Amino acid sequence: MRIVLLLDIFFRVKKLTHLLLDIEGTIVLDKKYTPVPGVLEWFNALAEKGIEARLVTNNTTESPDDLYDIMCQRGFEIERRDLFTCMSEAAERMIRQKAKSCFVIGVDNVKKYLRSRGIEPVESWKADAVLVGLDPTLSYGKMNTAAKAILENGAKLYTLHRNRRYVDENRETVMSSGPIAAALENACMVKANVCGKPDRKFFLSSIKGWDIPREKILMVSDDPFADLAGAKKLGMKTCWVLTGSQKDLAVINKIPKNHRPDFTLDSVTEIPI
Ligand SMILES: [Mg+2]
Repeated sequence: MRIVLLLDIFFRVKKLTHLLLDIEGTIVLDKKYTPVPGVLEWFNALAEKGIEARLVTNNTTESPDDLYDIMCQRGFEIERRDLFTCMSEAAERMIRQKAKSCFVIGVDNVKKYLRSRGIEPVESWKADAVLVGLDPTLSYGKMNTAAKAILENGAKLYTLHRNRRYVDENRETVMSSGPIAAALENACMVKANVCGKPDRKFFLSSIKGWDIPREKILMVSDDPFADLAGAKKLGMKTCWVLTGSQKDLAVINKIPKNHRPDFTLDSVTEIPI
């Protein structure tokens, strides 16, 4: 494949040393965290090849510690410090803003995690913050409580991310948190505080300590819109893989030319290391 050859030449000349890897759709296939075929061998060889890899995820259903345990159980050899999730970023931002309570549109794991960080999840509009994640029990009532908290209690709106779609445990492409946050933004005429990719601050905290030019970092993801365009805006190289929710090559035409991925591969395991 011509594009693989280009990538191969590029990284043999430049030497790939730092990788940011999305999790879902990139190194695992679905919400059961099934590893992409061949990925464990590829991933677990990175360290001995002198390549530093960090996982950056917009996962909204597992706490960061639980997600780390799951990835280890699936066979990924990673350190806890190399996992960056939107959930811990959200908690840190709320703590900085001195939020004591939060109305959560999301699963119980998000509420449990916030409580462990000192932010009380409440079931009313009298909350300091509103946090949007994935919520299978989303209802019109919940949306109205969230809107009321923002409009009448001055709650700040946070969203774990803005992703449009993801692949669920039945391998179906389904709606993600982005459209929910967008509905609240529209109703309340506010802008959500985005805590995951492609937010600039999230990316910057995930590459903290890497003392190299950003163009030497390769961000790999199945999402060319949020993940890759966001990384590219920061000057990183980007690689789109076709193992996730976006598989139609034509979607690239919806992205401005200067934000399109540098490389496109069938799988992350094709990246030469
Ligand atoms: Mg993904």
